[in-house]
Amino acid sequence: MRLQPPLALLRALRWAAGAACLAAAGGRAQVVRFGVMEDSARAVLRAAWREDSTQPERAYCVRRARIVARVISPTKIDSIFHVLLVRPAHVDTASPNHVSFACHAGTPELHTHTPATCLTDDPQYCAAGGPEAYSCQPSREDYEKLIQRGDPFAIIQCDRVAFRFYYPSEYVSPAKDDSTSRRTHRALHESFAPNNTRFITRFSL
Ligand SMILES: [Zn+2]
Repeated sequence: MRLQPPLALLRALRWAAGAACLAAAGGRAQVVRFGVMEDSARAVLRAAWREDSTQPERAYCVRRARIVARVISPTKIDSIFHVLLVRPAHVDTASPNHVSFACHAGTPELHTHTPATCLTDDPQYCAAGGPEAYSCQPSREDYEKLIQRGDPFAIIQCDRVAFRFYYPSEYVSPAKDDSTSRRTHRALHESFAPNNTRFITRFSL
């Protein structure tokens, strides 16, 4: 079922208003964000989870959610994101490493990360488990999409009952490249990596 435009608009405005309030408060206070997958949504996602290693990523749209701001003190605010209802998204393309989809404007998104490690997007090169299985980390693309959409959060389902909420504030753009920031960068470089080769050797993985 698709949202009618007026409802979609209303939804977008509601998110925008909520985000604006949080942003305004966040300007003065330190905000900790919590995501809560309520039972109604959790049951659907739990039932749909599969363990096979060749599956593509899947996607959902968050159709009902509630944002609650809890003021702990004038300088501390907890923002709690309750997700109440999700619906499968219309998927354009999907592979074990990627899913291309878009929910309506103002409707936050959820996608799965699979329980497998895949060398390429071809399912025949996927194996169950391994270092990339059950990854709860948003990819750079995941963050960029969230920022571009302007949603207050997005979610990764990375195991049957494991949900990773992620937020625009986690993805910080580089400082503007003016003379001040160039000076800052140079100062950082000097203080943390006086010898670049040794620095890399010492900390490379
Ligand atoms: Zn992802």
